[in-house]
Amino acid sequence: MKKLFIYNSLTRRKEEFISLHEGFAGIYVCGPTVYGHAHLGHAKSYISFDIVVRFLRHLGYKVRYVQNITDVGHLTDDADAGEDKIGKQAQSERLQPMEIVETYTRSFFADMDALNVLRPDISPRASGHIPEQLELTQMLLEKGFAYEVNGNVYFDVSKYSAYGKLSGRSVADLLEGTRIEVNTEKRHPADFALWKKAGPEHIMQWNSPWGSGFPGWHVECSAMSTKYLGQPFDIHGGGLENTFPHHECEIAQSEAATGKTFARYWMHNNMVTVNGVKMGKSLGNFITIHQAMENLEPMAIRFFILSSHYRSPLDFSDDALTAGQKGFQKILTFLRRVTELVPATDAGIRLEQVVSDYQVAFENELCDDFNTPKALAVVFDFIREMNSLFDQDDRLNPVDQAGLINVLRRTVGDVLGLLPDAVLSNKEQGGDFSGVMELLLELRQILRREKNFALADQIRQKLTELKIEIKDTADGSRWEKK
Ligand SMILES: [Zn+2]
Repeated sequence: MKKLFIYNSLTRRKEEFISLHEGFAGIYVCGPTVYGHAHLGHAKSYISFDIVVRFLRHLGYKVRYVQNITDVGHLTDDADAGEDKIGKQAQSERLQPMEIVETYTRSFFADMDALNVLRPDISPRASGHIPEQLELTQMLLEKGFAYEVNGNVYFDVSKYSAYGKLSGRSVADLLEGTRIEVNTEKRHPADFALWKKAGPEHIMQWNSPWGSGFPGWHVECSAMSTKYLGQPFDIHGGGLENTFPHHECEIAQSEAATGKTFARYWMHNNMVTVNGVKMGKSLGNFITIHQAMENLEPMAIRFFILSSHYRSPLDFSDDALTAGQKGFQKILTFLRRVTELVPATDAGIRLEQVVSDYQVAFENELCDDFNTPKALAVVFDFIREMNSLFDQDDRLNPVDQAGLINVLRRTVGDVLGLLPDAVLSNKEQGGDFSGVMELLLELRQILRREKNFALADQIRQKLTELKIEIKDTADGSRWEKK
């Protein structure tokens, strides 16, 4: 298997990926808190990890991809204070919390399907894993890492010296933090809730040894990841903004409870910004995936996201999205051109070596911490090289033609996910009426030969209105859907 290097947020350097069990990779990514439609920030996060999963599979790993659905316990300040985000949304929409959860879970997967993000192998819901969360909380209490006050259970950060190792914060600094403490139950302001006592207004609550309540957000991910992947497991992913407190707390809980490493590689994707400011629901500057898809095809959005590295911020603009659309179209146009080349067994050039060099160069970029912008650059260099070759001779050996289509499907399709079935079947791209198009082009050639330029131009004009462009070349005319 090819050597893959991953930037590990825990050690702050690129490390060779050595999976725990040979040939198998277990990955957990924090899933959405389902109380609103997903926006472009979510698209960046889940497309980034989709590439990780796709590429690991491409390299030959058997992957188990777990991505949870947070349907309870995520409070409005991201730590453990404020209202439950889902409960609050349920109140404002006058619906049951589970109706909110169902609505936005469906919306999330519909958006992800459109963006050709592969579904996780397991999508556990927090509310369906309460016993596992109670068990973990109980273990932490028994081992003296947690304490109970008035139906609430808190993790005691002063008992766990490694707290802060992911985010680079020291326990000492956190212990001396000057944050004004409103919750006097906590022994220390940095302590976080494992279990919260529920008031009568809480619809979602469960029985526990400490009374009726609901789990803390952090404990959900600890319980669900290790249930399906074991401990330790290979890769834990999520958004950069969740490094602290969420991921720091996950590590503390899981490692304190078992004495074993939690996740071996931590990966964090950067955010989407608007004029340099993070795009987010709380900031009110977000564009939902659904809104973006009203003007653009989903693959243009996917291309836009892949055009920057997952660890870099991506600034949103209409120009950047339009560039995504153009880049994606360029790939499709090339793919169509390859299928339309004239098969000839005696064609002079052979492509076996170039095709294999291309695939190696493409994989090398992704082996370097999933560098999608550089992998795309390899794709475009290759397209340019091939195009200039076919400009001179449009005959190609059928074996090479098949090899070329195959390598594009494997790289641009299977790994980058830019060629979903709908695109490949060519329906949206005009494949359905390609026969009619050929007829029109032939007719136009006849008109031109007969010097009936007015009618020939009229055909071109009408097609332009239909967003079909005609290109006249020395060897005849070609058409392209814009
Ligand atoms: Zn999480």
